[in-house]
Amino acid sequence: MSLQGKVALVTGAASGIGKECAITMAKQGAAIVIADLNLAASEAVAQEIINAGGRAIAVVMDVTSEEAVNAGIQQAVDQLGSIDVLVSNAGIQIVHPIEEFPFAEWKKMLSIHLDGAFLTTKAAIKHMYASGKGGSIIYMGSVHSHEASKLKSAYVTAKHGLLGLARVVAKEGGPRGVRANVVCPGFVRTPLVEKQIPEQAAALGISEADVVKNVMLKETVDGEFTTVADIANTVAFLANFDNNAITGQSIVVSHGWYMQ
Ligand code: NAD
Repeated sequence: MSLQGKVALVTGAASGIGKECAITMAKQGAAIVIADLNLAASEAVAQEIINAGGRAIAVVMDVTSEEAVNAGIQQAVDQLGSIDVLVSNAGIQIVHPIEEFPFAEWKKMLSIHLDGAFLTTKAAIKHMYASGKGGSIIYMGSVHSHEASKLKSAYVTAKHGLLGLARVVAKEGGPRGVRANVVCPGFVRTPLVEKQIPEQAAALGISEADVVKNVMLKETVDGEFTTVADIANTVAFLANFDNNAITGQSIVVSHGWYMQ
């Protein structure tokens, strides 16, 4: 229970990786803010945490809206007293060959992944500074923060961008005890990935089984998917790590798909 007394806000926590990060940190004693577009699903996750004896609230937050981010973070601080851990995790995937990539979809991708990371950092870090206790900011990157794949120009660009943001936040925040790191998952079977399998099969003209075997897991050491638990445990490790020895880093959790 080493996150006892800490408050952790997780964006995109109504589903997939974010949900598991929230549940894992709650089990370690943190009070959790489930911040997502989807209020009903967020409330269900908060209730699941409360039913297991934890503490959680749900806030509606579109991470691309400065107003919504500021309001959600203020609501969290008003109700729970602080923000000690921010997990900037909300994300989507849109795939197209670059010559067909609609500009509006490119902008939507960069807005959710990069504006969302910037806006939540800007709003949360003020509270981390004001508390005098600092905090831990964890960005959900991807192996695509380091590697490229066909059809994913917007996603790869955005995920690479998070490395730059984390390094700047690490330098600015370090003297005031704020750490910033990027967790980089390989493929995890969440709704985001389930949606991609038929899309990639159609775009590449191959079967869905081939997408899994020969595209998604081809470069892993064992042909295995990474799990939500693998990512949540890594996030909880960084949330618990309480000094600047680990900051400005990316940790790749991908069954060896990408080796740094
Ligand atoms: P998911 O689709 O299961 O969950 C994403 C959540 O983000 C949803 O609850 C959705 O409502 C929320 N969301 C979307 N847009 C939002 C917005 N504008 N504001 C607030 N919330 C919003 O997806 P996931 O697989 O759990 O992905 C979570 C993160 O992990 C993403 O950043 C994704 O890029 C990253 N990631 C996923 C994988 C994978 O294989 N699943 C691999 C590497 C990185």
